[in-house]
Amino acid sequence: MMISLTKRFTKLAIFGSLSFILTTAGLWLYWDAIQYMMTSGKIPTLDFQFEDFMNRHDDIVDDMMKKYDKIMKAEVKEPNVGNLVYAPESLVDYGRENATLLMLVRNKELRTALQAIETVESQFNHKFQYPYVFLNDKEFTDKFKSTITEKVSGQVFFETIDKVTWDRPDWIDSAKESERIKVMRKYNVGYADKLSYHNMCRYYSRGFYNHPRLQQFKYYWRFEPGTHYHTSIDYDVFKFMSANDKTYGFVISLYDTERSIETLWPETLKFIEQNPQFVNKNAAWDWLTEKKQNPQKTRIANGYSTCHFWSNFEIGDMDFFRSEAYTKWVNHLDATGGFYYERWGDAPVHSIGATLFQDKSKVHWFRDIGYYHAPYYQCPNSPQSDGKCEVGKFSFPNLSDQNCLINWIEMVADNELSMY
Ligand code: GDP
Ligand code: MN
Repeated sequence: MMISLTKRFTKLAIFGSLSFILTTAGLWLYWDAIQYMMTSGKIPTLDFQFEDFMNRHDDIVDDMMKKYDKIMKAEVKEPNVGNLVYAPESLVDYGRENATLLMLVRNKELRTALQAIETVESQFNHKFQYPYVFLNDKEFTDKFKSTITEKVSGQVFFETIDKVTWDRPDWIDSAKESERIKVMRKYNVGYADKLSYHNMCRYYSRGFYNHPRLQQFKYYWRFEPGTHYHTSIDYDVFKFMSANDKTYGFVISLYDTERSIETLWPETLKFIEQNPQFVNKNAAWDWLTEKKQNPQKTRIANGYSTCHFWSNFEIGDMDFFRSEAYTKWVNHLDATGGFYYERWGDAPVHSIGATLFQDKSKVHWFRDIGYYHAPYYQCPNSPQSDGKCEVGKFSFPNLSDQNCLINWIEMVADNELSMY
């Protein structure tokens, strides 16, 4: 008995020591690789605080999704505003709004751009024939231009963006930038190390509305390669914006990657402290600073909920972006280098701007428009639907906690529900 116990213990000790030696050797041999994986974001770093865990309630996510489901499943028609303008029989004398469809796009995205144009044309624009502006930081190829021109009903402009406006400014501190990119990669911030993406976000935040071609327009409808429109839109959305005093329209509202915008809100607060006159008395403060569903986001983003209007679809009034308040604010933001030291998206920038520097009632949720940009949907229960958008579908279930539309409805826009 005694002998067999000693034997077993010896075996265990030998096995234990061997495992220890092998693990240590393994860690030592692969330490560089492990470190690389940690800093490149291949191993997600736990960003865990007990306080967040206690505050975070899955029941809030469930509750938000139940409310979302209920709203999306209720039948919805066009806005019942009494001033909708439908497409006339003939467009010859149609007085369009001063508006354009707008896509920033690369030559290599021709196929997905065509697909998006096809849905915009068939659901909306063949009835109204608004012009298109295509923007690119490089020259468009002849093939791109001729293929697109064939597919659109309206007038079409292909424009290049000047380098000074598009490129990363020289004064960006490259050592600081690489250091910050490393940190963001550690936290899995998407596109953290992709310079062109930073340029794109900066351009959509503070450039596009002053492009020489866009200066002639007031309203734009931004659309993107690969997106789908799932409802037939029979009224003129630009006239809707104008007649109902709206300056910004969206369909989907999401939380952002908090590590991409850690100083966006503090910089904004700094700006408005120096320029309090620009803040609208009906700004959406509660909505901007909410922290119920994802308190860790609000904490890491230093007070901003990160909830924003998803900007790959937006219908907006560029005169708002050209206003003194928005212009001075984005110039302040730009001067901090945050578009490069962090990865500020144009969506949170537009959303904060549109809800701080103007009356929040100027923002409109296009509840009736069916839309898809991977991986999120808006699928209203509408008689105008093409049937390819499952009513109420949002995304994969594990992404439900990214949906913050209900905040907008409950904290700001419950009166907008009666518009439909
Ligand atoms: P995501 O939706 O955030 O994953 O970003 P996308 O890749 O869809 O980019 C957003 C928009 O900017 C799309 O319309 C792209 O075609 C466009 N875009 C992104 N990067 C560039 C770029 O470097 N050059 C140009 N011309 N367009 C870009
Ligand atoms: Mn996109």
